[in-house]
This record gives sequence, C-alpha cells and structure tokens, in this order.
Amino acid sequence: MRIDQILSDAVNRLASHATEGANTPHLDAQLLLAHVLGRSRTWLYTWGDREMEGAEFERFNALIERRQQGEPVAWLLGYREFFGLRLAVSPHTLIPRPDTETLVEQALRRMPANGARALDLGTGSGAIALALAFERPAWQITGIDIVAGAVALARRNADALGITNAHFEEGNFFSALPPAARFELIVSNPPYIDEHDVHLGQGDVRFEPRSALVAGQNGMADLLHLIDTARHFLAPDGWLLLEHGHQQGGEVRAALLDAGYGGVSTCQDLGGRERVSLGQWPSPLSDSLRQEGS
Ligand code: GLN
Repeated sequence: MRIDQILSDAVNRLASHATEGANTPHLDAQLLLAHVLGRSRTWLYTWGDREMEGAEFERFNALIERRQQGEPVAWLLGYREFFGLRLAVSPHTLIPRPDTETLVEQALRRMPANGARALDLGTGSGAIALALAFERPAWQITGIDIVAGAVALARRNADALGITNAHFEEGNFFSALPPAARFELIVSNPPYIDEHDVHLGQGDVRFEPRSALVAGQNGMADLLHLIDTARHFLAPDGWLLLEHGHQQGGEVRAALLDAGYGGVSTCQDLGGRERVSLGQWPSPLSDSLRQEGS
C-alpha cells in the first residue's frame, strides 16, 4: 500500500477512538509513521506515493493499535521534545508538556549568563533542569526527585545530551539537601491536581504516575510546602518559580505574599491560562516591615 493511503487509514482508525485528551489523530499518525520510517513528517507528504515495506507496515500497525488503546504517543516513540531537547520518557515520570516551557522561559529571564546555582524540585525526566542547564552552561543545576526511576532517567537524559552542568539526586523535595545549601533560583513543577479532578481520567494523564500529578488540599499541598520551605534555601534576592493549575494562581500568589516574598506575579501558558507564579526572597517590603517592627 502507498504511504498516503496507510496514513489516512491510520488517521481514520485513531479518529474513531478519539476521546477527551486524546484527539489529535493526524498529528499522532504522522509522528508514529515518521518514527517507523526514520523520516521527518514533511517527508511523508513529499513521498506519499511510495510503497511501504511489509515489516515497516507491521510495526506501524502495532503502534497504531497501542495508540487506539490510549497509550501516550511519547511512550510509543520513546521520547518527547521539550524546549528543543529530545528527552527519553518512561512510566516513572510525567511526560514533559509545552505548558512547562513557560516556566523555563520565565526562569531564564532571571538567570544571567554568568553562572550561579539553580534547584529543580520533582525533576522527573529532568526536563526543566536540562533545559536550564543547556541554555545556561555557566550555571550549576541540581535536580531532585523522590522516585529512583526518575533520577535514573534524568541522568540518562543528561548523558545522552552531553549536559554536564546538571546533577540529579534522589530526595523528598528539600530533605536531602544540607541545611546550608543556597540557590539563586528554585523551580518546580510539583503535583498539583486534586484527586477528584476529571482530568485524571483523560488522555496521557491516565498513564502517568499519580505521585507526579495528585496532591492533597485540593492539589495545593505540595505548592504550599514549597513556598514555605524554599525561602530557607534561597540566596538573597533569589527567585522561586512554581508551575500550578490554571485555577490556582490566586491561591499561590496569596501564599507567596503571606510567606513574605516580593515581586509576586503570575504568567500565562500558551493557552492563555495562569500557569506559573513567582516571587523573590526576601521581599524588600517584608524587609522594611521587619525593620519597622524591630
Ligand atoms: N499540567 C499537568 C496536567 O494538567 C499536570 C502536571 C502536574 O501535576 N505537575 O496534566
């Protein structure tokens, strides 16, 4: 059969199984076919009249069947692109998302070229830490995750990309750090989804580890813990940047202000939803208040 026919059959099969959160049949079929053929997506269109070999067709078919069952495309390919880097993925971690690139962009704005230290808590595949390390070679980035399989994956990604200024350790957020450790920048994309959120039953999220997605207190527990604890590990004027759910911006800003951070604001993701909030420690305001009080 010709490549263009195989592609349109696959699109129809995926479209008939489309559900909320898994409804991009064209893109999925193109990515999987390009992967099997070892070609780009544009190549598929240029050479649509070519015949496909039997063995390749079998492999493609098997991937389409797995995709029909909902398996994430990133798992079928074995990787996902994030901030221009190709990252291996595994069932131990979240699949990197475009939303999280907003966090990286905001962090980079606060990372001058001359190096300092940054910390990525709950690093998962290492996506954020590796993007920062790649863009800022003079910085030292520490990535921490509680899941051993995540730390192993992040290290594997660093090796594959030849990134030497990011290091990964196992630990529960700050617990593995020496109390005297200080960072100019702390970032995190922690679990922030409420356990009853319908979103957990949709798309790729169904396959990802709950420990990376779900947090107590309506999804706020880990965000609040990070806001409360990060200030003890921030160097003077250091920044904390947190990804959160699109309805959590108000609560996260309030918690940052309560804890004494300054420069508190929220940035939107590509979909125009509140996604990343940030604050600087110590707040000049809280400093002057402290002085007034003393
Ligand atoms: N943004 C992800 C989602 O809604 C969740 C990521 C997270 O909990 N940190 O699918």
